[in-house]
Amino acid sequence: MSGSVRVAVIGSGPAGLYAADELSKHDAVSVDVIDRLPCPYGLLRYGVAPDHLKMKSLEITLRKILERPTVRFLGGIELGSGISVAELREYYDAVIYATGSPVDRRLSIPGEELPGSFSATEFVAWYCGHPDAAVDAFTLHARSAVVVGVGNVAVDVARILAKTAGELDITDMPDHVLKVLDASAVSDIYIIGRRGPAQAKFTTKELRELGEQAHADVVVDPAELVLDQAGKELVENNKAVRRNVDTLQEWSTRIQQGRARRIHLRFLLAPVAVLGSGRVEAVRCERNELDGCGGVTGTGITETLPAQLLLRSVGYRGLPLPGVPFDERSGVIPNVAGRVQHNGSVVIGEYVVGWIKRGPTGVIGTNKGDAKETVEQLLDDLDALPRASHRDPDAIIEQLNQRGVGVVSWAGWEAIDAAEQALGAAAGRTRIKIADRAALLLAAATALRR
Ligand code: NAP
Repeated sequence: MSGSVRVAVIGSGPAGLYAADELSKHDAVSVDVIDRLPCPYGLLRYGVAPDHLKMKSLEITLRKILERPTVRFLGGIELGSGISVAELREYYDAVIYATGSPVDRRLSIPGEELPGSFSATEFVAWYCGHPDAAVDAFTLHARSAVVVGVGNVAVDVARILAKTAGELDITDMPDHVLKVLDASAVSDIYIIGRRGPAQAKFTTKELRELGEQAHADVVVDPAELVLDQAGKELVENNKAVRRNVDTLQEWSTRIQQGRARRIHLRFLLAPVAVLGSGRVEAVRCERNELDGCGGVTGTGITETLPAQLLLRSVGYRGLPLPGVPFDERSGVIPNVAGRVQHNGSVVIGEYVVGWIKRGPTGVIGTNKGDAKETVEQLLDDLDALPRASHRDPDAIIEQLNQRGVGVVSWAGWEAIDAAEQALGAAAGRTRIKIADRAALLLAAATALRR
């Protein structure tokens, strides 16, 4: 293909930006990174725990990608309501979907809908200041909280519940979040896994942080750490599993320090019902036993954990995008090595990266190789791609503006960034996130007046 190739990346999280990074290494390619939010960085801004400052600093690297002359950020554009795939294809020679797995999976047990029962996704969105999360979504009057699932998200939400607001004002959490955390009555946090410790999904570094909390003791029952044959084999052959189990075993012998909060790590407990009249009061769990092959069977014996707050942290799921093939069963866009497929055939000029390509697994760095694979397919296809009809890069912005879609430019995001830093400086903090969508847009609009 001669002349500049125009590619749209839908989603400005790490996966989308790593794709833009790969594409921008080629002089002939220009990239528009499109996001429905006015702010870039996706799950780095709205999913990575605010107290993971080192991970958050990845923003410095990702910003450099968006600052390249051949890369543009266009915020405030939602695929579907703002622009259709067919229209996109009039402006771009190729489209890469990088929309992640934005919704939670369900437990499908009675009482799951009671007030006081939330997905971890909702809690994370709230404490990360996501504009879709209601400011008053959480009150934290609960004394006892149950977190279902033993992955890294469960560990994140438990750690945030275990920390004091004083420990969190080094973060960019919005003030309304810190206020609620400061008044939190939570004293006991139960993290429950339906299988054994060898089958837990958390990584050791994240797990160990739970044992380093200044205001929370960890509580582990040695009886729940017993391994079956499958568990023993995992411990023997998998260093990460061995380190997890060693950590839990060490904690099971620890003497409690009488700290104000306790994090209970429980295993072989599957939630079967959420109990309460009008709101969550307890979670009934069935005790499981290991089946020797990595699975479990129910024993029929139940245990009821007190809980005024329930956070379901059992994984994420992708959402279908209008006009884009979607596999309902796996919750991803069907693809082969990143080339989108429909009924077994390649959809020409459409590609996919990140969680919406492979499902919600891996750490942020996993997206780098994943994006490289997809971009290689795209570059291989270049000569065969039909050219989009509109070649003027500003045509899409004019079209969207005419339609009343307020496109947030890079300058708009920089104005939001500056406003958040100014809010932080006024309070002696590095940054305070603006959570309200109208306030974000107002801040972005100041860029137009400069
Ligand atoms: P995850 O790692 O897939 O863990 C989900 C957990 O939910 C598993 O323990 C699973 O148990 C359990 N579960 C699923 N269905 C259940 C049910 N019906 N009842 C009870 N338990 C159930 O998912 P995640 O924690 O959401 O993490 C998603 C990805 O993001 C992972 O790759 C994670 O490493 C990554 N992440 C990384 C970090 C970090 O690096 N700091 C932070 C957050 C997230 P089974 O195994 O028995 O199915």
